[in-house]
Amino acid sequence: MARYIGPVCHLCRRCSEKLMLKGARCYTQKCAMERRKRPTGRRFRRRRVSDRGLQLVEKQKARYTYGMLEKQFHRFFIAAEHQSGVTGDNLVVLLERRLDNVVYRLGFADSRSQARQIVLHGHIVLSGRRTNIPSCMVKEGDTIGWREASTKNEYYKQVTEEIAGKAVPSWLSLDRQNLVGQVLSMPTPEDAGIKFEGQSIVEYYSR
Ligand code: SF4
Repeated sequence: MARYIGPVCHLCRRCSEKLMLKGARCYTQKCAMERRKRPTGRRFRRRRVSDRGLQLVEKQKARYTYGMLEKQFHRFFIAAEHQSGVTGDNLVVLLERRLDNVVYRLGFADSRSQARQIVLHGHIVLSGRRTNIPSCMVKEGDTIGWREASTKNEYYKQVTEEIAGKAVPSWLSLDRQNLVGQVLSMPTPEDAGIKFEGQSIVEYYSR
């Protein structure tokens, strides 16, 4: 699956918001948003943003946060639309259920892009089965652990040492000794702690 490979800090600056895409670096003074708050672009001029422009920014914030390209993100939106309930909320829940997001939420990675890499390299076992598909959806009762061979590598040892200080959301549980997580329930939009408005995304795609 294709992915964005350009400079990620540009994405935050484009949205004028810290999207926390780089893990630990985002909390330091090295963060590009701390050093240069203006949006990217040499010919940037302050001008009034239209409603459509604001909706686009909300949509882009969500897409950048979960590291998805437009085509895949739109597919998620269509899936959310076909479910009953509020489309914006359905979309957030679907995005949260992605395996790479769950690996990140469990604290196995500092950022979603790192989590995606861990999954792609086949280190993760979902309910007993090795999977290398970051967009795979977790469901209630699923367990997320590490492949036996991966527990011997340096990165796994580092995660074991650092995991004690990390909190997991209430819809997940984590066995910190064995680094095995479990999905206790489906996430809610509140659990996601999102920085974008689902309703604006719905309006953006409704045109
Ligand atoms: Fe965004 Fe993190 Fe880069 Fe700061 S360091 S601009 S929060 S990705």
